Amino acid sequence: MAGLAAFAREKGVKYFMVSYTDLFGGQRAKLVPAQAITDMEEDGAGFAGFATWLDLTPAHPDMLAVPDSACAIQLPWKPEVAWVPANCVMEGEPVDQAPRNVLKKLVDEAAAEGLRVKTGIEAEFFLLTPEGDQISDPYDTAAKPCYDQQAVMRRYDIIAEISDYMLELGWGAYQNDHEDANGQFEMNWGFDDAMVTADRHSFFKFMVKSIAEKHGMRATFMPKPIEGLTGNGCHAHISVWDLEGKVNAFADKSKELGLSDQGRTFLGGIMKHAEALAAITNPTVNSYKRINAPRTTSGATWAPNTVTWTGNNRTHMVRVPGPGRFELRLPDGAVNPYLLQAVIIAAGLSGIRSKADPGPRHDIDMYAEGYKVKDAPRLPLNLLDALRNFDADEGLKAAMGSEFSASYIKMKMQEWTSFVSHFSQWEKDNTLDI
Ligand code: ADP
Ligand code: MG
Ligand code: MG
Ligand code: MG
Ligand code: MG
Repeated sequence: MAGLAAFAREKGVKYFMVSYTDLFGGQRAKLVPAQAITDMEEDGAGFAGFATWLDLTPAHPDMLAVPDSACAIQLPWKPEVAWVPANCVMEGEPVDQAPRNVLKKLVDEAAAEGLRVKTGIEAEFFLLTPEGDQISDPYDTAAKPCYDQQAVMRRYDIIAEISDYMLELGWGAYQNDHEDANGQFEMNWGFDDAMVTADRHSFFKFMVKSIAEKHGMRATFMPKPIEGLTGNGCHAHISVWDLEGKVNAFADKSKELGLSDQGRTFLGGIMKHAEALAAITNPTVNSYKRINAPRTTSGATWAPNTVTWTGNNRTHMVRVPGPGRFELRLPDGAVNPYLLQAVIIAAGLSGIRSKADPGPRHDIDMYAEGYKVKDAPRLPLNLLDALRNFDADEGLKAAMGSEFSASYIKMKMQEWTSFVSHFSQWEKDNTLDI
């Protein structure tokens, strides 16, 4: 007995949750009994692709989600179930637009150039009441709630349970805190290969939501779930290593901020494509209420407004917190875990290939003194602008895969159209009597 059947026997798993992620970041799964997993492990579990966000039609043949067995994770809170990320296949070919396939292709492309991208992400979230309209803790009202000791202890049962599970899973969990908005938390674990981080990011969201529900709450990663408060970011820290994963190719003490020439050109690619890649890193209508936002009640949004970079300073799109890595502060909680990693690699490789220059860094408080940087490009103001930027960036579209890019833009434009055709209270309040 090999593969998942052996995994099930060894760990007492009764069901496998064969799961794939669609273009909108939704996780779709079938619960497959361990007794039936061997056939599906080879052939995949069948899905009607049109029923999820993948730009397929009802007439398409069955899509098969083929489990990536080595990546199975037993649910620490429900050990009889194991989650296993799957790759989408149709008629023997990978479905080009399926996010995990998009990332796999880019990881392989980087490897062909001797590069191994390693990332860590910070997926912030709020704990709300089950209805999702209020912070679950009525006493969490401080004007500057970041690192609030009392408030984090009131949520100890949830935070510690999740942290314990991450430790159990060997993710290298190392800190948890109350974040900058009332009701907001962050939990950090170690960095790893882009695909490992994408799978863990997906599982983390599933786990946080599940444990919150178990405790009678609702967790949300929505970019700006509460007006006026700091939003949910999903910063990505990035470094690139040799194929063995031993030498950090981004580290060079002799260079500016300890970032090697290769790190600098990778960053150059991110800067060059930033206005377009926002369509991926900030993928929803609500995303644009987090970036370019007015000051929050805590004093700062901590989210970027411009395509600028700096040293250890959190008011820009990119921060270099120390030698050998940089932090992209643009992505938000709505980001698709696989597309986030994919677009980082796509833009970064494009930067390395074209020897892109990130331009000068600006060591200023961008919120207060941003006007001094006259030529800093502004981030898109809404999803439509971002999608148009992406559609106009032929290089980035090709790097992400032309089938993927066409499908993504099409589905997201439909989402935008659905949003603008929604008649809002704002329109009534402001234009009824015009
Ligand atoms: P901050 O809040 O200061 O931005 P955190 O400690 O919350 O930082 O998160 C830092 C993230 O960066 C973690 O996921 C960590 O594993 C990751 N990280 C640290 N060093 C590297 C590196 N060299 N390459 C990629 N990611 C890294
Ligand atoms: Mg059926
Ligand atoms: Mg952090
Ligand atoms: Mg944070
Ligand atoms: Mg950060």
